Amino acid sequence: MGSYTIVCADCGATVPNAPYHRVCPVCGGGLAFRYDLTSARLDRDLPGIWRFIDLLPLDDPAEIVTLGEGNTPLLPARLGPELGCRLAWKYEGTNPTGAQKDRGLAVAIAKGHAFGYGGAIIASTGSAGLSSAAYAARAGMRHATLVSRGAPLERVIPMAMLGSRIVEVDGTIEDTLELLAALRDRYGAYETSTYRRANPYQSEGAKTLAYEIVLQHGGAPDWIVIPVGGGGTLGSVSRGLHDLLEMGVIDRLPRLIGVQPADYDALAIAEENGLSTEADLLSIPFPNDLPPTLLVKLAHTFPHDGVEALHAIRDSGGVVATATDEEVLAAQAEIGAGEGLYVEPSSAVSLVAVRKLTEAGRIGPEESVVAVLTGSGHRETHVLAGRRQIEIERVSPADGLERLAEACGLETEVAR
Ligand SMILES: [Zn+2]
Repeated sequence: MGSYTIVCADCGATVPNAPYHRVCPVCGGGLAFRYDLTSARLDRDLPGIWRFIDLLPLDDPAEIVTLGEGNTPLLPARLGPELGCRLAWKYEGTNPTGAQKDRGLAVAIAKGHAFGYGGAIIASTGSAGLSSAAYAARAGMRHATLVSRGAPLERVIPMAMLGSRIVEVDGTIEDTLELLAALRDRYGAYETSTYRRANPYQSEGAKTLAYEIVLQHGGAPDWIVIPVGGGGTLGSVSRGLHDLLEMGVIDRLPRLIGVQPADYDALAIAEENGLSTEADLLSIPFPNDLPPTLLVKLAHTFPHDGVEALHAIRDSGGVVATATDEEVLAAQAEIGAGEGLYVEPSSAVSLVAVRKLTEAGRIGPEESVVAVLTGSGHRETHVLAGRRQIEIERVSPADGLERLAEACGLETEVAR
């Protein structure tokens, strides 16, 4: 395995690999990991994401905690020719908990365990919370999930089944996050939230998405499309691509497309108005009564890793796209029927973006596009309640076989 050092991205201080530091002990700045890219290999004899162990912040392969994450399929899109580009899906739904978050949480929990923490804590009822609970259980660590008032039971039950203690805070999401920060700072709790300043290790695991895309694609695609919630996945993919560029594995960077919900489009607003700092993003005047959206997982007015994501998109010559709920409902069904993939609404934004950008001529007909589908739809079915009309044919046993065949769409088969 390779070697790595940790440096402060703000003051440049070198930070020791142990004990655990969430941020720079000197100035409180964010941490960056540096690897020996001259000797790093992408094919270590380990499963899934761990084949990239040279580019992960582990001190010993014995630290690995695994449920079989990574090595997800890259599937040529059947919809590609119709859309007018060479499109492939990077389908993350085959990860152990059904989403890309497993890449980051596997590394976060492996390190928390290696640092000697007996438990982990997160405030999330989404993919990150589920993944954190699963890996903590796998490592034999305690786990607590903080949820804010009214968290849907459908989201909480799976975490409880993974052994996580569920704590409902009688307050808003902001109250919950504030309490979590206090637990972290006063009680030394190991937080696994998936933004860099909450846990820098998870962010390194998420880079493996970039390594797999490039190796499976046989080089850099022209474009990579990534749904954006907090912006962490996109930032990590960008750092992974820079590793590969420096290693000479690729000779150019793919252009990155970040996709946000239309009403929660901080990065799109930043692009339009030339904003680039955290203070800029925080100052965007979103109304307090934003409409609810199907894209719960992406609906952040302040993306925690938004600054890194924004710069990654800009530096790559990429673009920010947005998707409305209506566009997503159509795209989700199209990916399902057209590709055989039941994805969560927050993944279907990728198709919306590809269509808009090919229609606008931004993506050319000969260009290759890898669109990331971040998670399976199985855990998100409840968000479709009341939003999705399903056609159901109704028959009774007395209607006869002919009517049944017609209802099943079998007329032509029978006639033949
Ligand atoms: Zn510092």
